[in-house]
Amino acid sequence: MSGFVEKPEPVEVPGLEHLHTGKVRDLYRNEKGDLVMVASDRMSAFDWVLPTEIPDKGRVLTQLSLWWFDQLADLVPNHVLSTELPEGAPADWAGRTLICRPLRMVPVECVARGYLTGSGLLEYQEDRTVCGLALPEGLTDGSELPLPIFTPATKAAVGEHDENVSYEDVAHRVGAETAARLRQATLAVYGRARDTARARGIILADTKFEFGFDGEELVLADEVLTPDSSRFWPAAEWQPGRPQPSFDKQFIRDWLVSPASGWDRHSELPPPPLPAEVVEQTRAKYIEAYERLTGLSWS
Ligand code: ATP
Ligand code: MG
Repeated sequence: MSGFVEKPEPVEVPGLEHLHTGKVRDLYRNEKGDLVMVASDRMSAFDWVLPTEIPDKGRVLTQLSLWWFDQLADLVPNHVLSTELPEGAPADWAGRTLICRPLRMVPVECVARGYLTGSGLLEYQEDRTVCGLALPEGLTDGSELPLPIFTPATKAAVGEHDENVSYEDVAHRVGAETAARLRQATLAVYGRARDTARARGIILADTKFEFGFDGEELVLADEVLTPDSSRFWPAAEWQPGRPQPSFDKQFIRDWLVSPASGWDRHSELPPPPLPAEVVEQTRAKYIEAYERLTGLSWS
């Protein structure tokens, strides 16, 4: 079991058609046909959407995503049209709402990895490959890869894990030319972002992008380079051979697996509400990530 403890009811706004409630974001279409993406303060861990929100998370991640879109604008066009609040929207949508070009989404999760962990590590331990790519012997949890690799996945249904697929599989699904463009753009953006983060003491271990087409133009969509779509590790604590502390989720994971939570992650039962100090520590980590990466102050 996983997913929502209780799926939230969508906020109704006249003139906006509700399309989808994701784990973290709510999607609407406005009367012009543009996409309205609203990031909530919802938080997921161990495949659950937790019953407690992290105040400001939606705004921090939206502002971080916008900052990255700007940094990357010379490499790839993006889907953001404006940050203007739709008429009639609740005031608390400010800062966490993006109006976006509606794209024909490419049904591939474009993952770039510069370090080995997670599903990549599991596959490597079986046969020394990740998404069919051969890797050298001797790598361990958290190892830096000789070169960043494109490790695409297909999006799974809610509650399921995405499935890693080979490059050939992507080419088969979307065509050889689109596959090549996805790989090129994914690795270019990852390389730029990894260097930016590294200069600020943060390792970008891996990250997921989504692309879509506007006519023939391949456009970077969704959110980019946030803690929800990426693994960020504090560089000072990086030590291959063990799981790395997560920049944002560590306090929550530590508390959830501690006896204090009274929760068994292997049970079918949903996780309990978070204590106030765990919420506050986590909120502070999001703000720290934003401030360290962008060099701006959160206010
Ligand atoms: P989840 O964990 O379920 O992914 P989420 O909060 O990220 O939760 P999504 O379900 O991913 O919410 O909602 C975002 C959806 O919008 C995704 O299906 C994504 O592919 C799609 N999307 C993002 N940008 C665009 C765009 N410009 N045009 C069309 N669809 C888009
Ligand atoms: Mg998503």
